[in-house]
Formats: sequence, C-alpha cells, structure tokens
Amino acid sequence: MLNVLRSGGHMMPEFDIHLQCTVCEGSGKIENLRHGVDAHGPWVDITDQECHECDEGFRYVGREYYDSVTDLKADYPESMVLRI
Ligand SMILES: [Zn+2]
Repeated sequence: MLNVLRSGGHMMPEFDIHLQCTVCEGSGKIENLRHGVDAHGPWVDITDQECHECDEGFRYVGREYYDSVTDLKADYPESMVLRI
C-alpha cells in the first residue's frame, strides 16, 4: 500500500507579468523639456523621447504562478498580464 504525494502536482497557471512604467506613466514616451534664455528672450523646447525604462509603456517583470488573475492583481494592481 503506497500512497505517493506528488509535490507540485497542483496545476497553477503561469503568467507573464508586465508592469506599467512609472517613468513615462505607461505612455512609452518622455517629454524632454529644455528651456533657457537667449538674446531673444526665454525659450522652451519640448521633444518626445522614447522611454528607455520600458517597452512601449510596460516593463517586463517576469513569469510567475498564480491561481487566478485576481490573485495576481492583488500583488500587482497596475499590471498587464498574459496567461501562458
Ligand atoms: Zn517608460
């Protein structure tokens, strides 16, 4: 009589987790504001730069196991998840 308990036998779904970038607030772009004063007076120059902290507004966090998206969102409220 052998009762084998399999460890890791529960099938938890696996998720790819991306978090919204806090640097560019998920826009993927950063406003680069330059300003100064020259002979004609003060000037402002605004250019959009690609955010180097993320990929189009989202940063890849990693791959984790959760019972459900609800559980995952409890840990990562601002996340975008992909169920694998
Ligand atoms: Zn960013």
